[in-house]
Amino acid sequence: MPIGEFDLIAKFFTRSVTRAALGVGDDCALFAAAPGMQLAVSSDMLVEGRHFLPTVLPQRLGHKALAVNLSDLAACGAKPMAFTLALALPRVDEVFLGGFARGLLALADVHGCELVGGDTTQGPLNICITVFGEVPAGEALLRSGARVGDDLYVSGTLGDARLALEVFRGTVALDGAGFDAVRVAMEQPQPRVALGLALRGVASSAIDVSDGLLGDLAHVLRRSGVGAQVQVDALPRSDVLRALPEALQRVCTLAGGDDYELVFTAPPQHAAAVAAAARAAQVRVTRIGGIGAAPGLVLVDHNGHPVADTFGSFDHFKT
Ligand code: ADP
Ligand code: MG
Repeated sequence: MPIGEFDLIAKFFTRSVTRAALGVGDDCALFAAAPGMQLAVSSDMLVEGRHFLPTVLPQRLGHKALAVNLSDLAACGAKPMAFTLALALPRVDEVFLGGFARGLLALADVHGCELVGGDTTQGPLNICITVFGEVPAGEALLRSGARVGDDLYVSGTLGDARLALEVFRGTVALDGAGFDAVRVAMEQPQPRVALGLALRGVASSAIDVSDGLLGDLAHVLRRSGVGAQVQVDALPRSDVLRALPEALQRVCTLAGGDDYELVFTAPPQHAAAVAAAARAAQVRVTRIGGIGAAPGLVLVDHNGHPVADTFGSFDHFKT
């Protein structure tokens, strides 16, 4: 006999809470942001076949479902507090649920983010998490803050998740070690929470890269009413990606998606503070260009020559 809905919730998703006043088990969870703090709230849904492959290990899926949400808090400079989990499951598979919960809750513990509630229903596998974070009132990093003359930076490396997807699609072949490395980037992204916190008061704008650098940067430029120049050869990438043809490197770094790195701007006088934030968060940060007054995005190579932008960004209703 498979266990029922309430046994499932009790077995896999009920934990004691310390930060919240009330967690799983009642009609609502109860918690408050500290005085002077604003709540930062974000939801992200993962759909099988759309956001993940059926072959992904349950533990990695649990990790990723929360990671993509924590990445949104990171992009706002918010500290994770709590999350809810809405799950549609085709059937009760305790092996799947055990792995999923393990990956999910391990990442939650790393970031002190408590599971306080959710919803569970039968249906095609679908995972929707809402995260709650806190940020000092008025200090959230926004997409609208980029200013002419700012430097443009990105954390970590770009493109490995897209490279892994291309291997799954059969368009690229990698050796075992290379594939394992990029597969981890795709299936277990590390949200840049510490960097986001360290960039409060330092960065002028920020966004996390989920749909590809070009597409996500375009949101910042539009909201800020500015343009940008990006040096495509300066984009940080792994050794695995660097060993592949240049055209593929460009697609993966510029239009890859699923990177969950932070792209942010800061005035030049904050360059030392940006470097200090990167050190404090133990994350590599690379300057990839700058913000200008002319609207739009200009791509240049290492000789300063323009590179044609033929790279789309991901849009669920256009692809
Ligand atoms: P209600 O019917 O009042 O909406 P439910 O019966 O759906 O509540 O859920 C009972 C309790 O279990 C609630 O506290 C809810 O937040 C929690 N819950 C349901 N599903 C999950 C889940 N997947 N993860 C965590 N908590 C859950
Ligand atoms: Mg109820």
